[in-house]
Amino acid sequence: MRETCIQECPLCRSSAEYYLVDYDKCKFFKCPRCGLFQVSLRAEGALLQGPQQWRDAYSQKAKEAPEDHALAIRVSSPSQGAGVADAAVAGKYVRMAELPQG
Ligand SMILES: [Zn+2]
Repeated sequence: MRETCIQECPLCRSSAEYYLVDYDKCKFFKCPRCGLFQVSLRAEGALLQGPQQWRDAYSQKAKEAPEDHALAIRVSSPSQGAGVADAAVAGKYVRMAELPQG
């Protein structure tokens, strides 16, 4: 059993459980408001510095995930040295079976 941690959900600030996946580059959240979603550490940093509307939009998307899917939020910009504020954050629905689980 993986060790779960508790922190504020980066989307809605509820107290949420998560554990690290994908070689510790990604957090798999179980939020009481947003449900299940994954966010990479870089994407989390970008979201926390981004406008509130980003977080609201991703929270909404996470809640609307189809059955057996979860929202995976990643930074798509590969550019080195760009500030996190410039990072292109993107979310897509991924089948639960295909998400990194550990
Ligand atoms: Zn949340």
